[in-house]
Amino acid sequence: MSDTIDVALIGGGIMSATLGTMLKQLEPEWDIRIYERLGEVAQESSNPWNNAGTGHAALCELNYTPEKPDGTIDITNAVKVNEQFQVSRQFWSYLVNEGLLPDPSAFLSATPHMSFVWGEKNVEYLRKRYEALKDHPLFVGMKYSEDPAEIHEWAPLLMPGRAKSQPVAATFIASGTDVDFGALTRMLVAALEDQGAQVRTEHTVTGLKQDKTDGTWLLKMRHEVGLFPLEVRAKFVFVGAGGYALPLLQKSGIPEIRGYGGFPVSGEWLRTDNQAIVAQHSAKVYGKASVGAPPMSVPHLDTRVVDGERSLLFGPYAGFSPKFLKSGSLFDLISTIRWHNLVPMIQVALRNFDLLKYLIGELLASRSDRENTLREFFPNAKGDDWYEMVAGQRVQIIKNVPGKGGTLQFGTEVVASADGSIAGLLGASPGASTAAPIMLDLIEKCFPSKLDEWTPRLKRMIPSYGGTVSADPKLADKLLTETAEALAIAR
Ligand SMILES: Cc1cc2nc3c(=O)[nH]c(=O)nc-3n(C[C@H](O)[C@H](O)[C@H](O)COP(=O)(O)OP(=O)(O)OC[C@H]3O[C@@H](n4cnc5c(N)ncnc54)[C@H](O)[C@@H]3O)c2cc1C
Repeated sequence: MSDTIDVALIGGGIMSATLGTMLKQLEPEWDIRIYERLGEVAQESSNPWNNAGTGHAALCELNYTPEKPDGTIDITNAVKVNEQFQVSRQFWSYLVNEGLLPDPSAFLSATPHMSFVWGEKNVEYLRKRYEALKDHPLFVGMKYSEDPAEIHEWAPLLMPGRAKSQPVAATFIASGTDVDFGALTRMLVAALEDQGAQVRTEHTVTGLKQDKTDGTWLLKMRHEVGLFPLEVRAKFVFVGAGGYALPLLQKSGIPEIRGYGGFPVSGEWLRTDNQAIVAQHSAKVYGKASVGAPPMSVPHLDTRVVDGERSLLFGPYAGFSPKFLKSGSLFDLISTIRWHNLVPMIQVALRNFDLLKYLIGELLASRSDRENTLREFFPNAKGDDWYEMVAGQRVQIIKNVPGKGGTLQFGTEVVASADGSIAGLLGASPGASTAAPIMLDLIEKCFPSKLDEWTPRLKRMIPSYGGTVSADPKLADKLLTETAEALAIAR
């Protein structure tokens, strides 16, 4: 016989940790368990060296502000991503104020966000982007400059060694952040354990089957050091398995997953721990994407603060591997092909020639090609100071869109069964920064009958819940100030 628990969270990453934390606040008596296949939580995408740690708020990422055919800048996505980050800021502030998270500097560092471009066309684009954003309540405080001396003050590594004739421009905003999502995941999971949740590492969920009589889910598991398969019965299941969410949702047999496929993109970084260099850069500096580059693969030169130590990270250099997790199998991609997603996958392969060309180019790039890309940002960089690291895997969503056919999507999507008893998260961007709003979305999809009862508690956790922050500039100012104080970051 297997136990029946209230909630099974498959995967010990930031998404499960966030959802578990929210549900424990809403229903303290619920029996919540996390099952993680590896020996520790936060070892896949949520590990700090597998992601870039950018608190994505669209303060510097140019892919959220495309130029429209008429030459104006579309800020819709930038505002949406920033709104989402404000939800995360409020949730983390609540947890800090409640003592559920310790000193915020253990997972969050105030790190200015900069966009930096070169070439006349890009300078003109950045100037227009700045004009479009500067008066918006969520982007207050953004500065713009085309003056090399001022840019040098903001980020001293960017200018020396650069041709004086090269037109350059940058924006700077002090309210950016660097987040150690690994530390945050570990601390959230530890706080959950203190509140009675159980964490089972080295437990791989191998099968999921719904009991049609009562709607509960039977999870089959393999314990890495045990001899016998294990089972647990859960009233609600979250598939927070990162890249393995797609194959697990396929195993569950829910019709909602039909037509979805995954396209894995791998990545590598260059990193330096040379403190003479690290001390000269305190920012996250994002550039403009090359043609065909997936939006999340735009290189950036980042200050990273991991376990209190400062380093610089440059990349990611995108690549291709058929694995769906860094620790996954070479058969991952092929094992998710079904008759219902085959056509969308072929359509995506045929329609994304620029992306394929870009990825092949990145795969063929030599070490010295990579150092040259680094020198576009930091002209005096010396190769010997930098070493290579493998980044996490991202599995982009392939989906059949009515009227369009197979489409490659770069966002995230919650896929839930019609009865709300199981849900999973596909996709990767903006990612960990938006774990709180994504998990709120999941809660609304899966627990609609509980929402009236839960709303007052949700509003305590996230004061803007049910509305937006920027609709009221006074509210935006109040929340930005309060969360900045709680998290010890710039307003
Ligand atoms: C190169 C790169 C750069 C990124 N940069 C940023 C950034 O700057 N800012 C940002 O906000 N986000 C960023 N992201 C995205 C972010 O890292 C992810 O969105 C986030 O970490 C995903 O969390 P998760 O919990 O869904 O998945 P994961 O952290 O991958 O956790 C999934 C867990 O499930 C476990 N698991 C899988 N299958 C099973 C099974 N069958 N049974 C039990 N356990 C299982 C895995 O071992 C893993 O621990 C980046 C990602 C990458 C790859």
